[in-house]
Amino acid sequence: MIISFRCPHCSAELSFEELSQDESPCPQCGKAIPLRLTGKMRNSNVVDQCAICGLEKLYTQKDFNRVLGASIFVGAAIVSLILYGYSHVLSAFLVLGAAAAADYLLYLALPEVTICYRCHSQYRHVSPNAANSEFELGLAEKYDPKDKTKGAENPAAEWKQH
Ligand SMILES: [Zn+2]
Ligand SMILES: [Zn+2]
Repeated sequence: MIISFRCPHCSAELSFEELSQDESPCPQCGKAIPLRLTGKMRNSNVVDQCAICGLEKLYTQKDFNRVLGASIFVGAAIVSLILYGYSHVLSAFLVLGAAAAADYLLYLALPEVTICYRCHSQYRHVSPNAANSEFELGLAEKYDPKDKTKGAENPAAEWKQH
């Protein structure tokens, strides 16, 4: 698995793949980052606990690149408008339909990413864990309340904006 997270000390964006150690130094600030790795994470590639903050609640979502998805559609809309302007009405609608289909297929083909409710660490290339389900707002509010002051407690708070 690959863990992407923010350094709890300096907030640098990091990703770790080598998970044999119980702690690793941050390549940016050099401070040790403790890794709470469970047996399942080490042996079965399954995330049952956040290695960075230790929380046992994680959710899964499609690893969707919204910029890519949106640009497909914007591009198609422009082509469609030009065709419409030249009275190719049927072609204009076909282009839009094809773009919607492409977006949908792209979505289906996307891998899933597992994300920690509290610190937003992201786990990619993991084996599925049935205990991790889709995002629930109630759990997000419980573990990472919006009114909490920003800072070291949650170095990845701005990742929520995506
Ligand atoms: Zn650091
Ligand atoms: Zn976490």
